[in-house]
Amino acid sequence: MAADFSPIPGTARMTDVAKAPVPFDLSTLKQNWRQRILAMRAAGVMPIIDIESNLSENLDVQRFARQMDAEGVALIAFSGIAAGRGWSDAARYAVAADPWRYIPTGDGGLPPDWKNNPMDFARITKERTVSDGYPLMGEYEFRHYPSPDQIQRGNTQRDEDLPIDSPAGHQLFQFSAESGIPFEIHLEIEDQYLAPLEKMLKQYPKAKVIWCHLAQMRYQSRNTVYGPDYVRKLIDQYPNLYFDLFSGPPDHIYPGSGEYPGKYWDRTTGRLLPEWAKLIAEQPWRFMTALDLNPFIMNAFSRKVGMQRAVLASLPEPVREIVAYKAAWKLLFNEDF
Ligand SMILES: [Zn+2]
Repeated sequence: MAADFSPIPGTARMTDVAKAPVPFDLSTLKQNWRQRILAMRAAGVMPIIDIESNLSENLDVQRFARQMDAEGVALIAFSGIAAGRGWSDAARYAVAADPWRYIPTGDGGLPPDWKNNPMDFARITKERTVSDGYPLMGEYEFRHYPSPDQIQRGNTQRDEDLPIDSPAGHQLFQFSAESGIPFEIHLEIEDQYLAPLEKMLKQYPKAKVIWCHLAQMRYQSRNTVYGPDYVRKLIDQYPNLYFDLFSGPPDHIYPGSGEYPGKYWDRTTGRLLPEWAKLIAEQPWRFMTALDLNPFIMNAFSRKVGMQRAVLASLPEPVREIVAYKAAWKLLFNEDF
């Protein structure tokens, strides 16, 4: 694939350059991003916007720019990792070092900051989103089981359990409803969490929520409700609810349960099950590609892109580019690409 869709950054370390001024100059950045998407399309590449990844200021932006170009990943919603500092500003460094490839996104609601003091982190989020002009807030972990890479590293501490209708949850929903800025949630799919989520969606119909990781179920026995029909019902009922499509590979087994968590896959074909493909094809503006990157799994980048391309290949041709990048563009910038 062509590797000259956009300039390669002049430095590998993003912190070698000054942070981007804020509020972000989104109109100039959008011109870069639009050009990059158009260049990929002209080269016959389906551009992908990754709507959900947590990356740090240690990312080698030169090397990663080449990897993104090679895989046809147009843009990554770059969400920094506060890592105990209250806020990271990593997205400001990323955008300054490479104004072609990253959509600045607020820091994710990750431990320890969010876990130790959710109200404080929600307050900082609101302040920074207003002052810096982030078009998207990061992924907030409400119910979150330890991730597979953490279990591999022997770290089972990240077992988050903050109710979606906790005071900090209300802060985020209310702020999103008032500002129109979307935010992302990680909420394990389980019967017990559905009613509180729906209660919040009902109370804040204008809040723009991306529920991350469509159909990722780590414990099937805790689920009797969620499936394509339930998601269809949610989409019909809640006009500002969206989903990210990240999933591990079809044969991935969650080490905590010994089960296949990727419920939308047909494991024999490596494509979407027809009922999930049908749902996404009916409502393509509600679904977005996502890579769910974090600094520990960067060597899985190509594989993760491959998974999202397998999702796109399962969809009818006319909706693929909506799910790949147009739905994200529309949600973040309130305009059609
Ligand atoms: Zn997540």
